[in-house]
Amino acid sequence: MPHEPSSTRPHAAAGTALPRIAVCGIHIESSTFTPYVSTAADFDVRRGDAVLDRHPFLAAGSPLREAAAWHGVLHAGALPGGPLDREDFEAWRAEILEGLAALVSGSDGASLDALWFDIHGAMSVRGMDDAEGALITAIREVIGEDVLVGTSMDLHGNVSPALFAGCDQLTCYRTAPHVDVAETRERAVRSLLDALAAAPDGLPAPKPHRALVHVPILLPGEMTSTRVEPAASLYARIPELAAREGVTDVSYWIGFAWADEPRCQAAVVAFGADGEAVDAAALELATAIWETRHEFVFVAPTGTLEECLDTAIASPARPFWISDSGDNPGAGGADDTTGCLAALASRPEIRAGEVTALLVSIVDPETAGRAAELGVGRRGDVVVGGRIDARDPGPVPLHIEVEALDHSPATGVAAVLRVLAPAGGESPSEPRSPELRPTSQRSTGLRPTGLRLVVTSRRAQFSTEAMFARLGLTMTVADVVVVKMGYLEPDQHAAAADWMMALTPGGVDQDLVRLGHRRITRPMLPFDAEIPAPSAADVLR
Ligand SMILES: [Zn+2]
Repeated sequence: MPHEPSSTRPHAAAGTALPRIAVCGIHIESSTFTPYVSTAADFDVRRGDAVLDRHPFLAAGSPLREAAAWHGVLHAGALPGGPLDREDFEAWRAEILEGLAALVSGSDGASLDALWFDIHGAMSVRGMDDAEGALITAIREVIGEDVLVGTSMDLHGNVSPALFAGCDQLTCYRTAPHVDVAETRERAVRSLLDALAAAPDGLPAPKPHRALVHVPILLPGEMTSTRVEPAASLYARIPELAAREGVTDVSYWIGFAWADEPRCQAAVVAFGADGEAVDAAALELATAIWETRHEFVFVAPTGTLEECLDTAIASPARPFWISDSGDNPGAGGADDTTGCLAALASRPEIRAGEVTALLVSIVDPETAGRAAELGVGRRGDVVVGGRIDARDPGPVPLHIEVEALDHSPATGVAAVLRVLAPAGGESPSEPRSPELRPTSQRSTGLRPTGLRLVVTSRRAQFSTEAMFARLGLTMTVADVVVVKMGYLEPDQHAAAADWMMALTPGGVDQDLVRLGHRRITRPMLPFDAEIPAPSAADVLR
């Protein structure tokens, strides 16, 4: 559909009218190595003012909310998962373009001044290589070149040339774990408002100078946590770089390790009023990253699952936490591989109850539903996990007792299951059975083991004390706590007396070379022994 270029229309920023700012985005991190396919059902989809209400700094009546006429077009956000279904993406894209077209050619004669493109940056869509780049390119065709576009991203997102070309102001988080999400988004919004305030009457906001330098390093978040070096020092340099004369913001994207797409690599972007200062800041940070390229290490001691379990059981530290990192749903893992469950269920110390263990959590709608059907205090037989990612050992049959039940938007049905073992001491696992058997046949002669397991009907991450509390659990309730996570989130980190990361197989395997990327640019660390140093010739503007 044809659209009048915004420069020929009066800008709302002129005179006393408030600037018109649209907000839209699709926010998900997608592993292309997981069998899971994300669909609209996984997303929180918002329209109108609900798009703004996700942000405390844009609460009704707040100074930033009052500073512009905001238009929430559409925002869809989900827990990390697999690639997004193409039809769902196309439907949202059409709705976003339609909404923006209506704003650009508004019946009140005002045009659009700015767009806040609120995305994660590592969304994969089936059949596409650069979904966010394609989306912003389509958006530009509708809104024109004059509208100021700012984006705030997760530092695990990717900055493709198309995304860079479509955005005037790009920024991302400076912490991992991400404790500066709201701060980053607010910074992006303030940058937009500042630029609009600097616009001459009746004219579009001046565009900043921008510089992008890619650094061909692809690393998991677990080797680039800002809790440890060298990422801690690299991110600590940013405030000084961003405070320089003529520089507005400087950002460092780690990039997303678990997608096999040409855009996946680290990136630095700077923007501001002074082109030379912007270029220098971007190249300086990119060079600093390059200089530390061989220093990135895991954020915690690592080992195979068995090595981690041996250490945890022998350790005096309680609770001892273990991350099942290859199936971390927070990075896009299926959330239902069963290697950890089978290993915990067969450890003699745990079966005997000498060591208590808690596995949090496995997505299994069937088992969660079965637990809800049974009710608290009832026993039954279930087959847990392996429905999405069926890799060895696949679904695990268990005798269980339901200890607690809950229902929340984040988890769907959630159940705490106590794993039971035959009183006589035979294996707690029966041979695999495709269907669930009635309680009455199996519930006699069983005793509790030391193992408890949480199952949910939705993919979920128990990252906060509050989520444990909903099920009557605490983060220190067991000697050994196994979580489907990579690095631990703040509450978990505080609760863990000690911690190891199990380098388990899965859709977000920490061993990238073992995963087998084929389509990334080369040379790239860690796939190649060396990469060239960034130079002035590598600066994209
Ligand atoms: Zn992230």
